[in-house]
Amino acid sequence: MLLSLSKIIETPDSSIPFETELDLSELAFGNSCPVTEKVTAVGSVKNTAGVLILKALLQTTLHGVCDRCCDSFTRPVSFDIQAVLTTELENEDEADIWTFLLENDKADLDEILTTAFVLNMDSKLLCKPDCKGLCFRCGRNLNHGDCACRPEADPRLAVLGQLLKDK
Ligand SMILES: [Zn+2]
Ligand SMILES: [Zn+2]
Repeated sequence: MLLSLSKIIETPDSSIPFETELDLSELAFGNSCPVTEKVTAVGSVKNTAGVLILKALLQTTLHGVCDRCCDSFTRPVSFDIQAVLTTELENEDEADIWTFLLENDKADLDEILTTAFVLNMDSKLLCKPDCKGLCFRCGRNLNHGDCACRPEADPRLAVLGQLLKDK
């Protein structure tokens, strides 16, 4: 979706709302393509003292396989994003990942919102941020409870234990 911003480019405090959907079903994260549902984006572009600021809320539900515990999972995610839109870059150094160039006063929302979504996703796809993963000895999924394996003894305590036994 191309959003024409010619109406607000010269008018401070004016804004244009938008609402769109993205199909990111072919984007791979980790070992799978978890964005099987549409990503909805609701937001606006506002001329703030001459600078065009895009703000949006991206929401979807991921259906993936956890990179850490290998369980399949369904997890809603939402990202608040903000980006700067500009008609020209004054110099290359000013270009950062959250600055997007307009073409003919139009914002390419698909490109901007897709980039923002990817930047907000973690490089590892986890069923939840604090996934405990699998026990490296017995393979039990530790999210379902502790396993019977004893935790690795602290080598310093082992030395202490040996000293006490010698006495
Ligand atoms: Zn997991
Ligand atoms: Zn174990």
